[in-house]
Amino acid sequence: MNNVDLTKSITQKIILPNSNNNIEVYLQREDLIHPFISGNKYYKLKYNLEKAKEKNKETILTFGGAYSNHIHAVSAAAKSFGFKSIGIIRGEEYKPLNPTLQFAVDNGMKLYYLDRKTYRNRTEKSFREEIAKQFGDVYILPEGGTNELALKGTAEILQNIKIDFEYLCAPVGSGGTLAGLITGLYDSKKAIGFSSLKGGEYLSGTISELISNSSIRKFDNWIINHDYHFGGFAKISRELIEFVNWFKDNNNIQLDLIYNGKMMFGINDMISKKYFPSNSRIVAIHTGGLQGLTGMKSKIEKIFSTK
Ligand SMILES: *Cc1c(COP(=O)(O)O)cnc(C)c1O
Repeated sequence: MNNVDLTKSITQKIILPNSNNNIEVYLQREDLIHPFISGNKYYKLKYNLEKAKEKNKETILTFGGAYSNHIHAVSAAAKSFGFKSIGIIRGEEYKPLNPTLQFAVDNGMKLYYLDRKTYRNRTEKSFREEIAKQFGDVYILPEGGTNELALKGTAEILQNIKIDFEYLCAPVGSGGTLAGLITGLYDSKKAIGFSSLKGGEYLSGTISELISNSSIRKFDNWIINHDYHFGGFAKISRELIEFVNWFKDNNNIQLDLIYNGKMMFGINDMISKKYFPSNSRIVAIHTGGLQGLTGMKSKIEKIFSTK
């Protein structure tokens, strides 16, 4: 894909407030591979865009919320790969557009808004038929971009990790990234996903199914932790913001608040609870998502203006 530079994905040693000599934590910098198509989204899109080309599709159509990293990434990737793009956005239209949607429109993405109830039916057959009627022969990517081709892409993130390790950590939204990573793990390496969603217990089932559809190997080397969603998707707290600020001051790396901040907070907390045995090496995937910070500005200011 244009301008994606995988050599930028370095494995960087980091410190945490609860760091100690027995546990080493590294961050795999997938946030650095491209200014816009950053982190896990590049890997999720890679084989899907190839497939779309192969099928001679001209347009990529996908779904997402108004602040979605996925919508942001698809608009940029579609443009750089020579596709038109359509974004079906959950909820009402607000003007002026927020930075995420403005970026999408600037990349030529056409936006359509759907009320939440209709949006919920997006995976149904009748809905798909309606899309075909309205938009023609488009390549449809599900919300979050998770499908079997996405797994094939995210498994490749492992090739960038240049050190040996015992634990692999990744944030979880729709679960596609973690599922792909799991299928690429060998030996006794374990994966831990950190759910950003409250009530994400269904994700284990989703991920098991994704894995069994794309690999004949059996996997019991993974878990999802549900303790660090901070009240739900897009929910943040003062404690989380202060942790992410501490992390930036001490490592010179920015984390987003929705995914990577929560994961890293969780890793730090699990270290203090002695979850990881002595001499463990942990590699966490920085999945990017920094575009979302702009849209969170007012939320952050509000948290700090009330005591
Ligand atoms: C989309 C996204 C995730 C979640 O990936 P899934 O494959 O949906 O689980 C994690 N981190 C960032 C920054 C994302 O944008």
